[in-house]
Amino acid sequence: MADYFMNTYHRLPAVFTKGEGVWLYDTEGKAYLDFSSGIAVNCLGYNHPALVRALSEQAAKLIHTCNYYQSDVSLVFAEKLVKACMKAGMQKVFLGNSGAEANEGACKIARKYSLKKYGPGRHTIVTLKGSFHGRTITTLSATGQEKFHRDFGPFTEGFRFIPGGDLEELDRALDRTTTAGFLVEAVQGESGIIPQGEEYIRTAAQLCADRDILLMFDEIQCGLGRTGTFLALEAYGVRADVVTLAKGLAGGVPVGAVLAGEKAAGVLQTGDHGSTFGGNPLAAAAGIAVLDTVSDPAFLEEIVRKGRLLMDTVRAWNHPRVREIRGRGLMAGLDIDRDAWPVLEALIRRAEKAGGPDAAPNAAAPGLLLLSAGERTLRFLPPYTITAGEIDRGLGILKTVLDTL
Ligand SMILES: *Cc1c(COP(=O)(O)O)cnc(C)c1O
Repeated sequence: MADYFMNTYHRLPAVFTKGEGVWLYDTEGKAYLDFSSGIAVNCLGYNHPALVRALSEQAAKLIHTCNYYQSDVSLVFAEKLVKACMKAGMQKVFLGNSGAEANEGACKIARKYSLKKYGPGRHTIVTLKGSFHGRTITTLSATGQEKFHRDFGPFTEGFRFIPGGDLEELDRALDRTTTAGFLVEAVQGESGIIPQGEEYIRTAAQLCADRDILLMFDEIQCGLGRTGTFLALEAYGVRADVVTLAKGLAGGVPVGAVLAGEKAAGVLQTGDHGSTFGGNPLAAAAGIAVLDTVSDPAFLEEIVRKGRLLMDTVRAWNHPRVREIRGRGLMAGLDIDRDAWPVLEALIRRAEKAGGPDAAPNAAAPGLLLLSAGERTLRFLPPYTITAGEIDRGLGILKTVLDTL
């Protein structure tokens, strides 16, 4: 079959047709256990009854209305989302479609906040080396990884990268005369599941408060319950000025959010920002279903328990190919002694023909879907709804593959 797609993705060999729980099925009827959630998006797994009901009912009622107006569901979604982020100090939200768009909003807020208060020149946004903030020109400019800074220049000016964990560099970069904001992932995702230290985040919060620099958390991958608290920043006992969310926020329907607290909630005014699809009724209905499930403290405790099971199981192997496993909640990175990509391929190729797309989820030989992060890290971001039995099953497949390397 001719491939009409631009060649932007390194693809693995599977074409999926449907999913159920944490299981995906391909066109050949093979079954796969999904430990990736479409990169932290399908946080409630596939065919989740509450999500499917919300989407089906909303599709029949109203899919989209432009932002000249509001819709009943968008109002409810915004309220639930702001309330879910109240511990972090959030008061208002702007809804867009993606993580990059949310981070664009955060950068605009920081720039305007500083410009209005201090005048021109104080516009730098500090981010960390190894960070990932998106694929638009500005969010690539914010991303602290060399490999993203090729071919597409000139990039947006005014970003400065510092190494995580270095308090002196932090102190120097958070300069009160030039810096408008500090954008940080509490747990870095793309570069290998790297949690920031507690002292580091607390110091950053103190310096930002003292110097009136906006403290902005990119929670697009690590937020929304992924690490066992609704926002990953809650584990540090700090509050934020700005928070961005996307990925799992509507369980698979595109939506992104930039939230702001007391200092910055009023920065964007009529005409300053917009998004045609942003937070439309379909996305809002899905988002409500996700928030109603994920903001339950008991549900969050389960995420912590399952994450511990996953990491303890891998540690107990003492496997010669495994260097380290680290993470929080259901966000884990496993460093191995070789490139991760061939392992992902071997895991997917484990799937054998399993009797058509309607085969039982316990089909004889499923494949396992994992992600890589950096070069030698296997990244786990399973749906929150995964069971202990499914964690065991998936890890069994991984161990079998590691044994053969
Ligand atoms: C995925 C991701 C983004 C970009 O989100 P898109 O929806 O792909 O634009 C930004 N920041 C982090 C931390 C991410 O994981």
